[in-house]
Amino acid sequence: MPELPEVEALTAFLRADAVGRVLTRADLAAVQAIKTFDPPLSALGGLEITGAGRHGKFLDLDVSGLHLVVHLARAGWLHWRENLPAAPPKPGKGPLALRVHLDDGNGFDLTEQGTRKGLAIYVVRSPSEVPGIARLGPDALEVDRDTFARLMAGRSGQLKGALTDQTLIAGIGNAYSDEILHAARLSPFKMADKLSDDELVRLHDAVRATLTDALERQVGQRAATMKGEKRSGLQVHARTGLPCPVCGDTVREVSFADTSLQYCATCQTGGKPLADRRMSKLLR
Ligand SMILES: [Zn+2]
Repeated sequence: MPELPEVEALTAFLRADAVGRVLTRADLAAVQAIKTFDPPLSALGGLEITGAGRHGKFLDLDVSGLHLVVHLARAGWLHWRENLPAAPPKPGKGPLALRVHLDDGNGFDLTEQGTRKGLAIYVVRSPSEVPGIARLGPDALEVDRDTFARLMAGRSGQLKGALTDQTLIAGIGNAYSDEILHAARLSPFKMADKLSDDELVRLHDAVRATLTDALERQVGQRAATMKGEKRSGLQVHARTGLPCPVCGDTVREVSFADTSLQYCATCQTGGKPLADRRMSKLLR
């Protein structure tokens, strides 16, 4: 899932390649992806793209005062396209959700792999009309240490859930929360409101360092190579069974109904594996 660093990098990419161009046409291929009807998608046609921004994990293209807002969900992505075919795409089948044409013949596709469709497109007059944006907490890259400490102190529940709750802090998802907790040497199951002052400082520092690091690796990458770049920087996320780069212990996993988390027991839980039914089978 694209998180803050990926969406920020896509934003930077659009700022360089799409801002200043006229959006000539937007072809919707996945009808269920669009969540608004007024103004219609066709209202964007003929208007200049005047800005590109990010709200949490939402991408926001300012089209002369109208906003094309996109949430890429779990398996969505933006593909830059040169010399787009003029014929509109066939709706329905395949990963294409939206195709945007620019006046220089280039453009981009928004795509989504898999059968669970979550990619969401909004055309609004103000980004705050998007419910998911209106509910966002402070941005993970901007939240200062005092605010961060206050948010955690007011949260009952485990750290993994707190870090990924967009209404608490915006921008962090499943992958970077694993990475942040590993960098902070904290258990994903630790209670957010039970952190010591030292742990709060470590966690806040880890949020900054992890996201800044990832962002530096991603910005400037072409959209196509970005996902590979994300993977190469990960220490524990999606590395179950591989050695922890810090201590050499085996990276472990806790699985839930439709997701999983990865962690290092030596670095994060005092060497004690967290309870997980599937784990015994996995490491045998
Ligand atoms: Zn370790």
